[in-house]
Amino acid sequence: MSMLITDLCILCGACEPVCPNEAISEGPELYEVESELCTECVGFYDEQQCVEVCPVDAVIFNPDDFETLEELRAKYLAMHPDRAPTGGWERVKEPVA
Ligand code: SF4
Ligand code: SF4
Repeated sequence: MSMLITDLCILCGACEPVCPNEAISEGPELYEVESELCTECVGFYDEQQCVEVCPVDAVIFNPDDFETLEELRAKYLAMHPDRAPTGGWERVKEPVA
């Protein structure tokens, strides 16, 4: 599942540089997550870095874009074939609300 930036976003820009997949960019109104690039930080970190740094809790799991942990691992491997995973690989997936 990729992350979703809600309209709580205050355009502070803190999330963009911490994304290991360069999945976040400034859109016409809010910052946006490119779902094809977001692995929920699987392969890099145990926690979603955008969620960690957002000062207003604007980043949530996208309820319309569920991916299994296996799918997120596959996404990571496709994007970073020569990099050994450093985090999030054994993450216990939280149930979708
Ligand atoms: S969860 Fe990780 S990979 Fe996805 S947008 Fe946030 S920082 Fe980037
Ligand atoms: S860290 Fe939060 S408030 Fe700042 S740009 Fe990203 S989503 Fe918006």
